[in-house]
Amino acid sequence: MNSAVAIHPSVDQGVRKGGAADFAGGTLQCKCADKPVKVRISAQTAHNHVCGCTKCWKPEGAVFSMIAAVPRDKLEVLENGDKLAVVDDKATIQRHACKGCGVHMFGRIENQEHAFHGLDFVHTELSKDTGWSAPGFAAFVSSIIESGYAPSGMEAVRARLRELGLEPYDCLSPTLMDALSTHAAKKSGVLKA
Ligand SMILES: [Zn+2]
Ligand SMILES: [Zn+2]
Repeated sequence: MNSAVAIHPSVDQGVRKGGAADFAGGTLQCKCADKPVKVRISAQTAHNHVCGCTKCWKPEGAVFSMIAAVPRDKLEVLENGDKLAVVDDKATIQRHACKGCGVHMFGRIENQEHAFHGLDFVHTELSKDTGWSAPGFAAFVSSIIESGYAPSGMEAVRARLRELGLEPYDCLSPTLMDALSTHAAKKSGVLKA
């Protein structure tokens, strides 16, 4: 019954266990038929998850986005980079989107003080390569309401996420929240390195 609750096309038929140990990356491509933007990722992704926030790019009709992290020095724009523009240069994560089709090719944190500086955020569903790490949790689940999802449907959404093995959180996962807090505590001096 829960399977009627759509999350994201990459997980709605079940989460395919990805993450081949020897996987060394692949190419992401936007949805333009003509002169698509191509981005090469020369590493496996980490922290792949589905995200309910209003800022991440989602494919047509999807309730969640799917997004993972890669070291920024492992990401390279291969073709048609002149079509990219930053969606919101005031945002913590600067999302570089294709001006033709609207797909976000990568998000980058430019603030060197940020805990996640050095990581880029990418949607591996834009790649035909197989072996990318599978999503492991759901972030910012309550935020789907801000995109218009009926609050009365939230219980079913969380149940479906658990059924898929994507533990629902209303911020990031405990691992990532702990990393943010550890960074803040070291910066303030409360926590000694
Ligand atoms: Zn495009
Ligand atoms: Zn998001």
